[in-house]
Amino acid sequence: FRTTAFLGLGAMGMPMAAHLAAHSRESGGQTLVWNRTPGRAQEHAAQHGSVAATLEQAAVADLIVSCLPTSAEVDEVLAAAYPNLKSGSVWVDCTSGHPDAAPRQRDLLASAGVRFLDAPVSGGTVAAKAGTLTVMVGGPADVLEAVHPQLAFAGKVVRVGDTGAGFAVKAVNNALLAVNLWAAGEGLAILGLRGVELGAALEVINASSGRSNTTENLIPQRVLTREFPATFGLGLLAKDAGIALDMAEQARGSAPVIAQVTGLYRAASRVVGAQEDHTAALKLIEQMNGVVLK
Ligand code: NDP
Repeated sequence: FRTTAFLGLGAMGMPMAAHLAAHSRESGGQTLVWNRTPGRAQEHAAQHGSVAATLEQAAVADLIVSCLPTSAEVDEVLAAAYPNLKSGSVWVDCTSGHPDAAPRQRDLLASAGVRFLDAPVSGGTVAAKAGTLTVMVGGPADVLEAVHPQLAFAGKVVRVGDTGAGFAVKAVNNALLAVNLWAAGEGLAILGLRGVELGAALEVINASSGRSNTTENLIPQRVLTREFPATFGLGLLAKDAGIALDMAEQARGSAPVIAQVTGLYRAASRVVGAQEDHTAALKLIEQMNGVVLK
């Protein structure tokens, strides 16, 4: 893989592409970067030694990595890149996509001689900057083996099954995040209504069985501080919970908690704002209860 291309320089894509660019430089290759708003690509090139490119130029890379909001945007970009794709290359989609999109994208790419992996990531912008993302991969083992050394933004890489399995695992992981965050928010609202000091309550919960990443990190760092730094959009988390719910419904499974939480995050996206940080969903719980979690 002499030439790598990264498509989508958002909160995740910017730092992920920086690791690809550094890796390419070390191995004598180059990383092309494309973004819908081209200024971000020029900024990336100036800061990280990548090469700002048009989509036509990026499409001929040996390895293409994408990280866009949803599978719908990946479909659009894939269709636009399609005429210029090069047979023998590999497309790795790191979007938190929909499992239904993956076989369709794989088949379209296969018609151009390009192999596909769904490879969403977890760890947030902190792990993206550190190059320690967890990558959950769906698709053929030999394709993963070929690209694995190039995934310079990764800490842990796990093949979780065939095409679409990566997207499926990511959606369920994030549905669990959504459930944990919402449940912790309700619990703290109950304590707030009784006048309990929330910092002390969290100190206890975090030494007890009710703890999770949301009580240990997200709520103390983002909610109680009232900072809500927008690193992962509320609308994106609502999307992920919705994908998990879609999977349950398609299989005629029963996931009533995830169904309810999906509805609550969709409501929070509208009331609080889809672009706000995902932890700002707790502002809806605050409105529902007339308390402030601080
Ligand atoms: P951002 O909203 O920060 O960035 C979105 C990117 O997609 C931007 O580069 C944007 O371009 C581009 N884009 C949006 N619409 C289109 C379109 N129609 N055509 C082409 N490009 C488009 O998202 P994130 O980086 O936060 O998230 C990306 C993916 O990673 C999502 O699937 C998310 O769920 C997932 N994810 C996010 C994490 C996080 O902590 N943020 C953690 C793990 C996964 P432009 O600059 O022009 O707007």
